Formats: sequence, C-alpha cells, structure tokens
Amino acid sequence: MFRKNFKLLTIITLLLLATFGYQLYPAAAEPKVKNVIFLIPDGMSLDGTTLTRWYKGGPLALDEMDLCLVRTYSSDAAIADSAPAATAFATGFKSHTGYVGVLPDEANMPGLQPIAKGDGKKPVATVLEGARLSGKATGLVATCEIMHATPAAFSAHYPDRKNYDALSEQQVYSGVDLVLGGGYKFLGPDARKDREDLVKVIKDLGYDYVTTPEAMKKSGSAKLWGMFAPADLSYDMDRDSTNQPSLEEMTAKAIEVLSKDKDGFFLMVEGSKIDWASHANDPVGIISDLLAFDRAVKVALDFAKQDKNTVVIAVSDHGNGGISFGDNSTSKSYDKEPLAAFTGPLKKAVLTGEGLENKLNEDRSNIEEVMAAYFGITDLTGSEIAAIKEAKKGSLNYTVGPIISKRAHIGWTTNGHTGEEVVLYEYPTNNDRPTGVIENTDVARYVERVLGLNLKETSQKLFVSAKEAFESKG
Ligand SMILES: [Zn+2]
Repeated sequence: MFRKNFKLLTIITLLLLATFGYQLYPAAAEPKVKNVIFLIPDGMSLDGTTLTRWYKGGPLALDEMDLCLVRTYSSDAAIADSAPAATAFATGFKSHTGYVGVLPDEANMPGLQPIAKGDGKKPVATVLEGARLSGKATGLVATCEIMHATPAAFSAHYPDRKNYDALSEQQVYSGVDLVLGGGYKFLGPDARKDREDLVKVIKDLGYDYVTTPEAMKKSGSAKLWGMFAPADLSYDMDRDSTNQPSLEEMTAKAIEVLSKDKDGFFLMVEGSKIDWASHANDPVGIISDLLAFDRAVKVALDFAKQDKNTVVIAVSDHGNGGISFGDNSTSKSYDKEPLAAFTGPLKKAVLTGEGLENKLNEDRSNIEEVMAAYFGITDLTGSEIAAIKEAKKGSLNYTVGPIISKRAHIGWTTNGHTGEEVVLYEYPTNNDRPTGVIENTDVARYVERVLGLNLKETSQKLFVSAKEAFESKG
C-alpha cells in the first residue's frame, strides 16, 4: 500500500514538475533569433493610438505588426503600477506596486502561484541580464530619467522604485553596454546621499559619456552612456533638437552600437512620457510622444526586416487616463461629427501642456496670448483663465490638457492608471509568437525562449543570499 502510494506520489510530483515546473522555468532552448528589440510605450491606451493615427492621417508603423492582448495586473492589485508591470515583462514574475526586479511578498490575484515563505523581495534575473550573461550586447533607451521604473526593472533590483540612489548605482555597475536617456542629476554627488560621483565611475568603467545629440552620433565606442537632461527629456513636440536627441535617433544609435556584437543583442526602448501625458489628460502630449515612439518602432522594424534574425515587440505596460475617442458631448452626435471635430483643435497645438508652461511669463499675465499662439485656443472662458493662472508650477498640463480635450471631444475618466488589456505588437510574423490573451509575464517567457535564455539559472548565477554567503566565509 505504502509502495503504491509512494509510486503514485512520485508520478504526481513528476507530472506537476513537468507541467508547472517546465512552464515556470523552461530549460534553455535552441535560440530562435539573435536579437530582441523590446519597445514599451508606457501607459498607452488603445484610444490614444486611434487618436494618434487619425491625427497623423495615415497608418502607424505599429499597424503592420501582428498583435495579441496582454493582461497587465500585478501580484496583488488589479491595476498595475509601472514597477511591477515592467518587472513582469523583464523577469516573468508579477510583483507588488513599487517593486523593481524583485518578487512580491504576496501573490494573491486569482490563479497566481503563492510566493514561498522567505522569497518576498528576492531579486529575480531579467531578460537583459540573461542576454548579457549569454554574451549578447545590451542596451537601455528611455525618454525619462534612466533610473525610472521601467528601465530600472530591466537592469536593477530593489523593492522601492523611488530609491534612485540604489537603482542607479546598480545600473552603473550592471555591465549594460549602452544607456541613452535622461537623469544625470541623480548620478551626481549633490543629489546622492552617499555623495558618490557616478558620472566619474561611468567614465572609469570605460563608457564614452556623452551629453549632446552630436556627440552621441559621433561616438564610435562599443560602450556608450548618453545623458541629455537632468531628469526626463522634453516631450518630442517641445524638444530642442540641438540639446536632446529624438527617441528615433537614440534607437538608431543603439542598434548601430549593439548590432556590432557577433553574439547578438537585447535592447529595451521606452517612450516614457506617453504615460505622463495620460496622467495629465493631455492628448497633445500623447500624440507628440506616441508619434515619436512610432518612429522608433519604424527604425527597429527596418533593422529587423534587413537582419532577418531579430524579434521586435512593442507593448504598453498598462492603460492610463481612461482616454476615449468621443466624450459626453458626443452622446447624441457621435455618428454625425466629422473627423475634424476631433483632430482639428489638436492640430492647432504646437506645444504640449508642459511646453506651454515655459511660455507663460512670471505673473501669468499673457495666458490668452500663449494659449492662442501655441495651443490654438482663442475662446478661453473666465474660469479656464483663472484655472491656468492658479495651476501649480510644473503641472500646467493637468489644467490645459482637459481644456483642449473638451474642444476635441476626447474623454477621460481618471488621472491614474487603468486595468484593461493592452496590445502586444509583434514582428516577425512567424508561427512562434504569442496569440490570444496572454499574461504580461508570458512576454518575458517568450523573450527568454526565442533568445534561448534560462532565467532561473541566470538568477542562481547572479544572486546569493547575503546571510549564507557571509556565514560560509565565517
Ligand atoms: Zn507605466
């Protein structure tokens, strides 16, 4: 009886391992492709894409890709924060709000495997780290500060996205070959608690450290670190092209540098501020940076088509703002409104809400002139003028975004993230690609598989228990 049960138990265990164990930790497979370019339009909701396409008046580069849907919830919340959402893409594990590249303390959403006791906050390897250990070149490109949640989740591990000191220090020593984006003030001794000068460390580690688009383009170094703003870069529409490169230019440079590695490369590219514009309910900011993101997608697709050994994926980490094409004012007229009723008011704007703020004078006495010249609005109401006058410094886009949205019949439901599925755009169009409705963690598993990585082994190589390590040394 005991023997029979024992045998049964063994079979069940083997079956469990075969099903769950294999899915969670697939063995390193034969690599199917050499390179992966993983582009993230942070906080992009589908109606923002629809709006941007109508605004452009022609197809987006994204439109030619295959697609499926991705569920975005985190380990213990139905609506994700960028840190656990990017951690899911990078590591294959859902995590907790604010957690970067580490396991959550609890995974209690329906269908999730519980987190083993003692495993909370444990670091888990990212696809970027796996790619690096397999000999590939790696890179991070973003339009916000590089230690922000999304790029950090591919290159650092810490249970608090706000701890830029810890995250940037890990990034600097991570061995990543290329970093392009913003955030130099967080690398300097003035902003850091430890008073370290990480820019000096970056240079000592052999990176070509550049701060202008021209120097970036000229660099011939295989290790390149470009910082073009103290924190985030400007929205593309507001950008001074002599000081800051476009996302398209950074992506092209990244591919140029990384593709020289004969072992291939992994590159993450984030259109960071689509999310910020969505928080502010500013449709102009979304259009500005989604078009800029789409031009970066085109660069990646052009490379992949020529290279024939590259997977390109583009996927948002969560929805944001509840943007809708059509709002309460079109409840009865939605099928009679011409296209220009939506795009016309937006086409008059030449700056985003953030860019507008720099045009206002100190006492904000030129509101009407500025709104007419740069936002194309000449019919401001008294209460709108008062709201702009009182808008908090640094967040004017939260006031003028809704003002232009109203005129363009663009609806919003929240200033926060939303919980709907997002679209995963995929290239190449072979049979080995995700279809249907998948989890955000499946995206990491897909990258792991096509590049022939083994993230479980990578975790074991990269991380040891500090307590055990110190005890073993006495
Ligand atoms: Zn996000």
